[in-house]
Amino acid sequence: SGRWVKAMEIVQEFEEKCGTPIWKLRQVADAMTVEMHAGLASEGGSKLKMLISYVDNLPTGNEKGLFYALDLGGTNFRVLRVQLGGKDSGIVNQQFKEVSIPPSLMTGTSDALFDYIAAELAKFVAQEGTDFQLTPGRQRELGFTFSFPVMQTSIASGTLLRWTKGFSIDDTVGQDVVAELTKAMERQGLDMRVSALVNDTVGTLAGGRYTNSDVAAAVILGTGSNAAYVERAHAIPKWHGLLPKSGEMVINMEWGNFRSSHLPLTEYDHALDAESLNPGEQIYEKIISGMYLGEIVRRVLLRMAEEAAFFGDIVPPKLKVPFVLRTPVMSAMHQDTSPDLKVVANKLKDTLEISNTSVKMRKVIVELCNIVATRGARLSAAGIVGILKKMGRDTVKVGEKQRTVIALDGGLYEHYAEFRKCLENTLGELLGEEVSESIVVEHSNDGSGIGAALLAASHSQYV
Ligand code: ADP
Ligand code: MG
Repeated sequence: SGRWVKAMEIVQEFEEKCGTPIWKLRQVADAMTVEMHAGLASEGGSKLKMLISYVDNLPTGNEKGLFYALDLGGTNFRVLRVQLGGKDSGIVNQQFKEVSIPPSLMTGTSDALFDYIAAELAKFVAQEGTDFQLTPGRQRELGFTFSFPVMQTSIASGTLLRWTKGFSIDDTVGQDVVAELTKAMERQGLDMRVSALVNDTVGTLAGGRYTNSDVAAAVILGTGSNAAYVERAHAIPKWHGLLPKSGEMVINMEWGNFRSSHLPLTEYDHALDAESLNPGEQIYEKIISGMYLGEIVRRVLLRMAEEAAFFGDIVPPKLKVPFVLRTPVMSAMHQDTSPDLKVVANKLKDTLEISNTSVKMRKVIVELCNIVATRGARLSAAGIVGILKKMGRDTVKVGEKQRTVIALDGGLYEHYAEFRKCLENTLGELLGEEVSESIVVEHSNDGSGIGAALLAASHSQYV
């Protein structure tokens, strides 16, 4: 019928606009490399902030003692404690607790958010058992993983540049987030010192390096997306401080804010951005990360419902609600292997209150999920190639057998198998067979929290 034809036109046009042929991915990778150079050259020189992390030494394995970490991501926060055994004994014991952040706190006041976090941390500390041993006479120390753009002023201080991922708390912007947390811990009567403030990418890099010395970069694909890598200190023109002894500095790219004319953006992406809490910002993040993929699918489906009566004469009201279609639901539909796409039918019913869909319609919806996930995964791979180029690791050097490991983490990468497979295949496609042999993508499970604890250990006041 005419309606079906119109609906298919909408899908087809969307698919064309989302296209990521290999030549386009190479343009994106090159643009990423160019922006990395620009961001390192001068403050504000690029959309990529290329933030100096003050981490100039990564874990060695010698870290020892009891350390805490607190990981504030986008949706959840985790508190953990680790007992580090020192010299090659690794992690002797660890415990963690995951707490979800009440949505009201994401747009409330700074004190309310930090009081909540400090209270949960205090509860967790109170449950510390005898299987964890603080060195006598020492104060407990914490690594604070804070996954938002921060201009660091030292390893344990930094001011919040802006919120992302659905957080919007005006009075935190411009404040030192370590001071905010420290004040809240004092209000809770919790005696603890923040020894390291790290981005989750930097934590993941540190956690990855602890177990594998070839780890040179880390990428997070979770609620948001970001990357960090090890740069040579003398290749950072904007750095005017003393050159670190190691000659290296970890850079938090804040790659979520990357944008380029080469990115395939559609009218749906422009509308999503315009209606977001941070219009004009985090454009790359808005097409590759978990917070947004399902929302893009919803927007296309809504257009199909409104302009092609895809779900019948009435536009399903639920479909008009921003962010009702979460990425985990999208991935469940995308990966539905049942012959009549039962999962798709159930998800449509449960989350969108849409029933009576034909198998033919469900197939179209699966295809839509595939288009959005494929674009995100392929563009993520292109970003990784941009980093490899900057590090000079995108080619095989004669007589050199250098392995490069990229630590990946985040709920999207971890749980969305189709996305992960597509990312890894695209990486192979972009690098070619020979180079691919020396580049390894490794899932660093919850490395960001452990990494922060490790960095708290190496920056302990007692070291
Ligand atoms: P954060 O980014 O908040 O630190 P995570 O790394 O755990 O937290 O990522 C959570 C995000 O991962 C969710 O917001 C969601 O977008 C995505 N995600 C979680 N589970 C799945 C899933 N099964 N399929 C696809 N995406 C998922
Ligand atoms: Mg996280």
